[in-house]
Amino acid sequence: MKICTKCHIEKSESNFYIRKATGYFQSWCKKCLSIYRKQYNKENREKVKEFQKRYQEENRDKIRETEKHYQKKNAKKLRRMRKEYKKENAEKINAQNVQHRKRMSDQYIKKLIANQISRGSGTTIKFKNIPNEIIELKRKQIQIKRLIKQQSL
Ligand SMILES: [Zn+2]
Repeated sequence: MKICTKCHIEKSESNFYIRKATGYFQSWCKKCLSIYRKQYNKENREKVKEFQKRYQEENRDKIRETEKHYQKKNAKKLRRMRKEYKKENAEKINAQNVQHRKRMSDQYIKKLIANQISRGSGTTIKFKNIPNEIIELKRKQIQIKRLIKQQSL
């Protein structure tokens, strides 16, 4: 048993984290730490966000490597999960697609461009590599097409 120096309640050791650096127990219990962390995150949202952003930037390669490794290791599982998600949410996804189409969202336009490129050249392009000007042009093209369709009805 151990007394938490924050709430002063005596708790079993399983209620305390072990400090990695020293191998000793933390002096605050898990519950107090979690309350403190939540409070801290709430009060320092911007700082935490900034910190996370910096961490991601500085460790981009490491993070990407970890993600890649995870996806490779769990490829089958992830594929199955995506498939199940699509099946279970077919209606929702369809409705979203209709909305994307109606609003001509960037997402929708990018998909069209990517499909067009892949049909035309057999190569794939990442959404983020599609220049904004191209997206704008494509949007105009679609507007024209839709207008023509309307006129001819
Ligand atoms: Zn405590």
